[in-house]
Amino acid sequence: MINRIIIMHAGYCTHPERIVAQGGRWKSIKFPAIFAFFEHEFYGNILFDTGYSESFYAETSRLPFKIYAKLTPVYLKKGECAAGVLESHGIRPGNIDYIILSHFHADHIGGLKDFKKARFIYNPIAYAGLMGKTKFTALRKGFLRGLVPEDFEERSLVPEEKMKVDISGQLSPFSCGYDLFGDGSIILVDLPGHTKGQLGALVRDKEGRRVFFVADAVWQSKAYKELIRPSRIANIIMDNCDEYMKTLGRIHEVYKQRPEIKIIPSHCMEELEGEFHG
Ligand SMILES: [Zn+2]
Repeated sequence: MINRIIIMHAGYCTHPERIVAQGGRWKSIKFPAIFAFFEHEFYGNILFDTGYSESFYAETSRLPFKIYAKLTPVYLKKGECAAGVLESHGIRPGNIDYIILSHFHADHIGGLKDFKKARFIYNPIAYAGLMGKTKFTALRKGFLRGLVPEDFEERSLVPEEKMKVDISGQLSPFSCGYDLFGDGSIILVDLPGHTKGQLGALVRDKEGRRVFFVADAVWQSKAYKELIRPSRIANIIMDNCDEYMKTLGRIHEVYKQRPEIKIIPSHCMEELEGEFHG
């Protein structure tokens, strides 16, 4: 059972709104790097992603990685990384037991090195697709290898076949997920399109409230509510545009059919004000 869900953020970047929403303005808007904390009564402390950290600056101080920082200017003050934000909530980074990685973009894995004890949970398809790449191809895919701890693979826990459950009764049109601890508290859900093997998480707390973390399957809440496509420019960074639209359509259906489920995209400013915000 999950005792607590806290939604936080570690830094933000800026983009013109038009890039993430067709017909949007050219005005630059803030994209927070949201991460979440769950406290499980038996399995301990769990994170969903980590946002940015100071390591992002170190990794992007030289070419070719400098290009990344130029394209997406990142704003992060001292102490605003996930480890710092958690400390301000009285949670020690050394006490984080698991980190669920939605995918391997720098704004999601930026803080991994600050969590020395955590086991990493992710879709192996997402990782395998990156490790075989050259530095440059990986960079084009938004992956900074230096953000991944040396002992990452030894600390990995891959969702297993036996964890598979039918979720059509609670999250249709999504039909299948991975019940991480076998108690229905955290169900991992495939959200392909933005990257290969992107994972979301449906989390239920002890009061029965449910939150669906959809990572970058959609950038703004407005987009899943009104089914707004991203701009053509954004298509360049997509792994698969058709899959992206299919996943977005499914999230839109969940929104319409299950208004009681709170949907959290990783980069929507509006979500930093809701009931779970810490
Ligand atoms: Zn992202």
